[in-house]
Amino acid sequence: MKDCLFCKISKREIPSEIVYQDEILTVFKDINPAAPIHLLIIPNKHIVSVQEMEPGDEKILGKLFSAAKKAAEESGISDSGYRLIINNGPDAHQEILHLHLHLMGGGKMKHPIG
Ligand code: AMP
Ligand code: ZN
Repeated sequence: MKDCLFCKISKREIPSEIVYQDEILTVFKDINPAAPIHLLIIPNKHIVSVQEMEPGDEKILGKLFSAAKKAAEESGISDSGYRLIINNGPDAHQEILHLHLHLMGGGKMKHPIG
């Protein structure tokens, strides 16, 4: 997608703090962190949201979760815990229309969520 910010990040056309990348996905630091550790995990393929998933994309989504697990371990928060959040659509305040998994941790979070 030509004008998509996260497509540009995955193609390294604009700068970001990428911590991991492979042929399927990219993991980078959120520019405006809402937790001490706040990473975004995106598919390199432009998928707008869970709602826009196509047949076959399940495999990609599974890899996002595996990357989250690995990133949590490498960030030292796998035992203390973390949240994985996907905002979908306007009510959830999805601002960037390229599917992304928020990985947040490193401190006690508010409960209940919402
Ligand atoms: P969402 O509301 O779920 O769409 O979240 C979008 C997230 O992207 C927010 O947490 C932003 O801080 C983050 N974000 C926006 N622009 C950038 C950027 N250039 N690099 C890294 N993170 C960004
Ligand atoms: Zn995109």
